[in-house]
Amino acid sequence: MVRDIRADGKGRHTTTSRQLVLIPGGAVVIDTPGLRELTLWHAEDGLDRSFADVDAFAWECAFRDCHHAGEPGCAVRDAIEGGDLPEERFASYRKLEREIDFVARRRDKALELAERKRWKQIHKQNRERMRFRGR
Ligand SMILES: [Zn+2]
Repeated sequence: MVRDIRADGKGRHTTTSRQLVLIPGGAVVIDTPGLRELTLWHAEDGLDRSFADVDAFAWECAFRDCHHAGEPGCAVRDAIEGGDLPEERFASYRKLEREIDFVARRRDKALELAERKRWKQIHKQNRERMRFRGR
């Protein structure tokens, strides 16, 4: 049996600050205060799904890679200015986007290092094989 209640009566999994946990394979767990269960999703899809309202406007932007930072024909900025999308809502979107970006960059860095290590190993094995053949 798993004990999940601490002596002080607080649930062990009660989260006091928001955190991102990277799961091998590219998934990200976002643990938010007030959110009882962990939300697991693939980073970019998750952003779109959690902010379906922001995303719906983003589809209307003139540029597919619009950053909604003042580009011409930006439907997200229009929606904010027109009062259709609350500014705070967009700010939360931005914040999560930055967090995901940060985790993704860290993941890419880790992948790059692993790849470099792998190739080093391959070269080392090749050298050993060549030396063996040379005998
Ligand atoms: Zn835009």
